[in-house]
Amino acid sequence: MTTIQANLQLVRDRMARACDRSGRDVNEVTLLAVSKTFGPRAVAEALAAGQQAFGENYVQEGVEKVLAVREMLPAGSFPPVWHCIGPLQSNKTRLVASHFDWVQSVDRLKVAQRLGEQRPASLPPLQVCIQVNVDGGASKSGVAPAELPDLADAVATLAGLKLRGLMCIPDPVDGFEAQRTVFMKVRDLYDMLRARGHALDTLSMGMSEDLEPAIAAGATLVRVGRAIFGSRG
Ligand SMILES: *Cc1c(COP(=O)(O)O)cnc(C)c1O
Repeated sequence: MTTIQANLQLVRDRMARACDRSGRDVNEVTLLAVSKTFGPRAVAEALAAGQQAFGENYVQEGVEKVLAVREMLPAGSFPPVWHCIGPLQSNKTRLVASHFDWVQSVDRLKVAQRLGEQRPASLPPLQVCIQVNVDGGASKSGVAPAELPDLADAVATLAGLKLRGLMCIPDPVDGFEAQRTVFMKVRDLYDMLRARGHALDTLSMGMSEDLEPAIAAGATLVRVGRAIFGSRG
């Protein structure tokens, strides 16, 4: 077994234990392997171990990897599902709309409109999460909670996109309870949007260091990089 395969098993075990402890079914939680800074070979190795969903932060690097992995895969193998999870500038939306399956980092209407308009008609709608800034100042990515309902209502009407849920990257805090408390704020926003009529099914929160409190707070997708691929140097 390679290191990546062994690490994937360790992460899946952590997810299963975290689900157990909160009485959840582990099949409700998707593992997104964050492959930023690692090459296409690392992705191919994870794919061979049954990992399906991959996350990239930097658009140019991500697009190159999407194409390189496509070249490497044997005919008939299951294609990876690619998520863009990094900050998104308007001048990069066309690349993202053409090469990714998901975008988790939508935090303004203008970017969402461009993604919808630029999504090729030959592809299924781009699956979208809105990134929420639950704890930070104005300099942080993500929409402020007060502005979330209007943004969600607007994004949900756009052709070429399908609104699936919320994503957050909280500032690091110490201790399980403090971490869970921050994640619960995002969970509450998610429940609020669902009560408002949005058919959401994706709550993307938790990374290598804090996937357990995120799962305890209801995460349906955890984004894990270092615990799978090793440190990014
Ligand atoms: C890098 C990154 C991750 C993964 O972080 P690790 O600490 O390596 O698990 C998750 N989400 C986002 C948005 C990231 O940029």
